[in-house]
Amino acid sequence: MIAPQWNCPENVVAYTSTRYDSENAGASVGDYAGCNVGDHVGDAKEAVASNRASLPFAKSITWLNQVHGNHVVTLPSKETEGDAAFSAQRGYFCAVMTADCVPILICDKAGKEVAAIHAGWKGLELGIIHKTISHFSSQAADLMAWVGPAICQKCYEVDAVLAQRFSDYPSTIRQGETPEKFQLDLPAIAVQQLASLNIGVVVNSQRCTYCDDQQFYSHRRATHQGKPSTGRIVSVIGLR
Ligand SMILES: [Zn+2]
Repeated sequence: MIAPQWNCPENVVAYTSTRYDSENAGASVGDYAGCNVGDHVGDAKEAVASNRASLPFAKSITWLNQVHGNHVVTLPSKETEGDAAFSAQRGYFCAVMTADCVPILICDKAGKEVAAIHAGWKGLELGIIHKTISHFSSQAADLMAWVGPAICQKCYEVDAVLAQRFSDYPSTIRQGETPEKFQLDLPAIAVQQLASLNIGVVVNSQRCTYCDDQQFYSHRRATHQGKPSTGRIVSVIGLR
């Protein structure tokens, strides 16, 4: 379990689950070994249910059906298709699953509103951060954001077409190790977008899902290993 390195209000619960934890080995086995919480990746349903139930405040979590779009679900809601969740009600916790994409947790300094965002390159391009922030009634300067574990720049080589999509963020793109390839820094793009929205506090976890195979699942690492699928961690935030 990872706690964001921020001074959030006492009534805000925020964490990112890990793959292996000294207190929670997880019920999944094989390619999903550890505490996989993704129920859409081919893992055994019972294992996923057990892993989800082992999380802090498990019963308060609303699980989204994430589709790499930019829709924000306001909790409580019967509709769950979306890539961000917003909540201003106690006991309705926001959650996003990731395995390389960028999870972002947001709260206001008074502890009245929270949100969780799943931002891959598609979400970042579609402006999901801006869209989520617009749900808050607090001023941007009174919000805090934590950019959680995601694939680092060194591990995220992309082709020129994808790199070009982020030409507005030149400092997040560098030449790759092979010609015609570029290394894209998704967490840094998220940080720059949050800064441009004047969010008061922005903290980057600086943890890489690809580099650390003990703590995290990584879609790209699994692909490089020839595996068809892998698990997911979850980043959770809520008001208690
Ligand atoms: Zn890395």
